[in-house]
Amino acid sequence: MNPSTNSGLKKVFIKTFGCAQNTADSERIKAYYWDKGFEEVDDWKKADEVVINTCVIRETAENRVYGLINNINLYDPKIKIVVTGCLVGVYDKKGKIKQLEKKIPEVNEFLPIEKVSFEWEPLRDKKKAALIPISSGCNNFCSYCIVPFSRGKEISRPMEEILKEVDRAIENGFKDVVLVGQNVNSYGADLSLSDSQMSDKTVVNMGKKRFRSMFHVLLEEVAKKNLEKVSFVSSNPWDFSDELIEVIAKYENIDRLLHLPFQSGDDRVLKNMNRSYTKQEYLDLVGKIKQKVKGVKFSTDIIIGFPGEDEAAFENTVDVCKKVGFDIAYINKYSPRKGTVSAKIYENDIPMSEKKRRWKVLNDLVNLK
Ligand code: SAH
Ligand code: SF4
Repeated sequence: MNPSTNSGLKKVFIKTFGCAQNTADSERIKAYYWDKGFEEVDDWKKADEVVINTCVIRETAENRVYGLINNINLYDPKIKIVVTGCLVGVYDKKGKIKQLEKKIPEVNEFLPIEKVSFEWEPLRDKKKAALIPISSGCNNFCSYCIVPFSRGKEISRPMEEILKEVDRAIENGFKDVVLVGQNVNSYGADLSLSDSQMSDKTVVNMGKKRFRSMFHVLLEEVAKKNLEKVSFVSSNPWDFSDELIEVIAKYENIDRLLHLPFQSGDDRVLKNMNRSYTKQEYLDLVGKIKQKVKGVKFSTDIIIGFPGEDEAAFENTVDVCKKVGFDIAYINKYSPRKGTVSAKIYENDIPMSEKKRRWKVLNDLVNLK
């Protein structure tokens, strides 16, 4: 299909909020709309139909979605509004989509993202690396996080399907790929669970019992291909196996900037977040990776102002930043999300002014150094 021959047809504008997984999904949504005979426009005011691929990770992200819906409706109520992504996921998975219809009656269609299957070959943004989804969902249930409710349990794509998609990206001229998932390094745990040949299916990593991941196998297969850079987001400390570190060390085309969220440097806060590792275990892991992978650098995600994060707890987070020397930190102010454990059992007790102060301390330390 050649997009340039499609002009004169109905016009769609696709707005993407959120993470790399949503960006990857939007590239398939684009293909789905081309298939329906739409062309893409660069401004929602020119569109017949606006597709909003939503994020609900924090309240601010969700409010931006409602703001956009309101603006479109005020501008021209004839523009068809289609909502997809995590907001739809949260209500759809509970069988409560009618509630969402009532909440945002301006929306004409709710499209569960699962309907835009992997059969649609993504129409990729040629300026960037090819994003390749390897799994969706998450089984971790960190106490603050809505992802397990919006995207459901972790499902891995079959390895052959992923490798074929990588091959096609290479044929289309891509030299860089990013393997995308909420917890990439538990990739294949669901597949290994159903593998009757495998006798030893579980491992205990950092106090968490896990089904064996096959991420290192997949990563090696991708790294062997003719690619300049292979990256992956997001990985979790407790699924960062020695085999994975070996594969990274062995292939120079694997990105030396590793994204390894730690969220908090305080053991008590980590426990309340339902993240199974301690500060020391995280630092030990980073130390081991630094030793084995020459030239490695790290980026991370941090939540500040989690309930009960007193000054001493915050100082532990500062200390991890100082010890690791991250290149980039994505610093998030805690926001209680309805339906999560932390929103239910903890009081959001750190004032916004203090969250802002802590945010600045870390941003100055890591991002503005
Ligand atoms: N799977 C990834 C992260 C996915 S969500 C991981 O485990 O690292 C992206 C980031 O949003 C998280 O790393 C966290 O820092 C932030 N986040 C998630 N829920 C949040 C909440 N309720 N309040 C503030 N930040 C949150
Ligand atoms: Fe959310 Fe934790 Fe899963 Fe990341 S690992 S998506 S933070 S539940």
